[in-house]
Amino acid sequence: MMTMGFGNVSVTAANADSAGRPRDMYAVYFQKHGDSGVLETGRLPVPSPCPHEVLIRVEATSVNRLDIAVRKGFPGLSLGWPHIPGSDAVGRIESAGTEVTGCEPGQRVVINPGIACGRCNHCLSGKSTLCDRFVIVGEQINGAYAEYVTVPSVNIKRVPADFPLIKAAAAPLAYITAWHSLVTRAGLEFGDRVLVSGGSGGVSTAAIQIARLFDAHVVATTRAEEKAERLRGIGASEVIVTGKPEGWAKSYMASGGRPFDIVIDSVGSALWKDNMRLLGRGGRLVNYGRTSGGEVSMDLSFVFWKQLQVIGSTMGDPGDFETVMNLIFSRKLDPVVDRVFPLREAAEAQDYLEASRQTGKVVLLNGERNSPEDLAE
Ligand SMILES: [Zn+2]
Repeated sequence: MMTMGFGNVSVTAANADSAGRPRDMYAVYFQKHGDSGVLETGRLPVPSPCPHEVLIRVEATSVNRLDIAVRKGFPGLSLGWPHIPGSDAVGRIESAGTEVTGCEPGQRVVINPGIACGRCNHCLSGKSTLCDRFVIVGEQINGAYAEYVTVPSVNIKRVPADFPLIKAAAAPLAYITAWHSLVTRAGLEFGDRVLVSGGSGGVSTAAIQIARLFDAHVVATTRAEEKAERLRGIGASEVIVTGKPEGWAKSYMASGGRPFDIVIDSVGSALWKDNMRLLGRGGRLVNYGRTSGGEVSMDLSFVFWKQLQVIGSTMGDPGDFETVMNLIFSRKLDPVVDRVFPLREAAEAQDYLEASRQTGKVVLLNGERNSPEDLAE
């Protein structure tokens, strides 16, 4: 029973409080850091919404690289146990805290995973990612690999009735991160030349679409030949298959390749040298992660002569969330879903992502919603 999705478990009177609210819920969680084998399934208490929060019955979530990094642990991360991962969530409002207005039970909403204090100068100027109290759902606090999750009511947005559940679940963290990196931080302009290094991930496929929305010339790199066609289909103007991830820049430039205005990167050390070399005058290297390592060296003669900028980017602000979700709901951006797993197979889904077998997003469906046919919904 402990491994079954909540859709297979009926909530009984014994599992409900006096008001009929369920006391415990199905969840995927871990109690120590490690490989995907540390993920457990079972029942945990249903979280109670604080006065400004809503309780959401999660219908779908998605897998992000962040989930794997949190599961493995990293310096500075301190979790309460058990920890529930998962930053994205789409679901229906179950209940709301006493201070929440304008939310109705049953509304389908998507969450912005970035939570901040809402009161400091950074928050009041719309830059909540700079808030000292900025946290991400599923990273420092419990996430959405569960039947229920709570978030502040300012972190939800209504999903249009005709919009596919799975695409909504695939969107938030990846698209917010891509938009914040390219547009808010790197100042993407119409017609820019943009390099998306490691083009197959969730943020990368989002970045390709966003850059195309700005009529950019987008070059994506991939190590897998079989992904090239898919990346072209998503919108990449050129796809470069790199045998080894590093060392291709010289031959690209020597064969007449033009330099880039923006490089968006989360690979880090393995590609850093190439990325710096590929930037043109006034170029911006925007970095949002370091999957191959965070120690880099760079030749400052590139930096001052070409007047380069190295820009850090983390997740995104409420304005980024509003903008990308509006573009997605109006079908101007189209989340790429590679594969759907039932939530109970979260460990397999994380392994699939960690092995970079996907192009785009991997979605986890709660309960009985566990088949790709739900894509059509
Ligand atoms: Zn703040």
